[in-house]
Amino acid sequence: MTDKPKVRVRFAPSPTGWLHVGGARTALFNWLFARAEKGDFILRIEDTDKERSKHEFEEDIKTGLEWLGLNWDEFYRQSERIGEYRRYLEDLLRQGWLYYCFCTKEELEAERQAMMAEGLAPKYSGRCRALSKEETEKRLAQGEVSVLRFKVAETRLTFKDLIRGNISFDTSLIGDIIVARSLDEPLYNFAVTVDDALMRITHVIRGEEHISNTPRQILIQEALGYERPKYAHYPLLLGADKSKLSKRTGDTAVKSYREEGYLPEAFLNYIAMLGWTPKSQRELMPLTEMISEFDIRDLHKSAAMFDIEKLRWFNRNYLLKMPADEFAKSALNIMEDTIIQRGLKWNSKLGAPLLGTVREKISVWEDLRVLINDGELDYFCREPNYDPALIPGRQGNAESAKKHLAALQEILTSISKGQFSDPEKIKTSVWDYATKEGTGAV
Ligand code: GLU
Repeated sequence: MTDKPKVRVRFAPSPTGWLHVGGARTALFNWLFARAEKGDFILRIEDTDKERSKHEFEEDIKTGLEWLGLNWDEFYRQSERIGEYRRYLEDLLRQGWLYYCFCTKEELEAERQAMMAEGLAPKYSGRCRALSKEETEKRLAQGEVSVLRFKVAETRLTFKDLIRGNISFDTSLIGDIIVARSLDEPLYNFAVTVDDALMRITHVIRGEEHISNTPRQILIQEALGYERPKYAHYPLLLGADKSKLSKRTGDTAVKSYREEGYLPEAFLNYIAMLGWTPKSQRELMPLTEMISEFDIRDLHKSAAMFDIEKLRWFNRNYLLKMPADEFAKSALNIMEDTIIQRGLKWNSKLGAPLLGTVREKISVWEDLRVLINDGELDYFCREPNYDPALIPGRQGNAESAKKHLAALQEILTSISKGQFSDPEKIKTSVWDYATKEGTGAV
């Protein structure tokens, strides 16, 4: 009996933008699977596209994962592995799997048009496959622009997807694929295949937008003589209007939610439920329980919709469950900050009794800032603005008003703290006095 190999999965983002909500979900599914299987979770930065990759995006990806508590066991950066890819490109070139292609953009476009005119699905014709070694070397020596293409065998390729079952491709529709711009400039499908193999990745769990890459990666894998990992492609994340979740349909950067003060536990819990229903059917579930319930086969087959109201609901639940002292600490800090920013005086003694009201009213910390900026909590941080002439009412004068106010102050301060949350108690205390002294005047 052979031992099952240790599970190894990877999150492989390209640092070409802020960590996306969809990216965080990919990371989470991989992480949950790794933790559930006592395997390894690998973070691999796919930065072979030099123009579009930026260091600040890599930093943001790491900050985002750390914020969410998705720790990684190993870290790689593809730009530091160019030598590895080169070695395998050279191998495949020597074995005749690859060839140099010198076709220009214009030639390729003309070929495409001609195929479409004939009613064929466009693909590369394979013209440069036929170039002799001498011809290729001559043209390379002359510095002609070239790319490296992989000879795609025409066959029917089927792979088993853990979520969708068998998926088949007719590879004759693909055409020879470009795997590198030069020996030192591998492209996505090549670098991924080499890395997945060298890093002994056992399961490739990623979004369905990569399904069409899978047969390409399998063909390269087979040429390199590597074993096939297991694949699982889950559906896209859609915006509330059912179009692909994009900037247009709401904030897509994890960073925005971090900055608005969403709780990482709540955010994680929500994105997990976007595309996964645990067997227990529970929605609110801390990370540790998600690990024990996670089963890749429970990932959905249809797309999930990102709904900000639902995310707020999750966050509200987590805020309500937060220990009182922790809630107070954060809330008072935000109150102080926002109030001072508005140029008002801060008094934490006045802030503390408001915590109960605040907790009831907000779903995310940002709501507290909005409440304060809208002036809804002004009564506790600034003198009320009133016309003294209105105080005595029609049946009193300044003298009687002063007397009644002093008496009421005494009555109210004599009510014990515990009873102060009981409106009935306050009402009866004031009412007793008012009926004695005349309700109009009081
Ligand atoms: N780097 C790819 C991306 O950002 C993901 C690669 C993969 O999961 O195979 O979309």
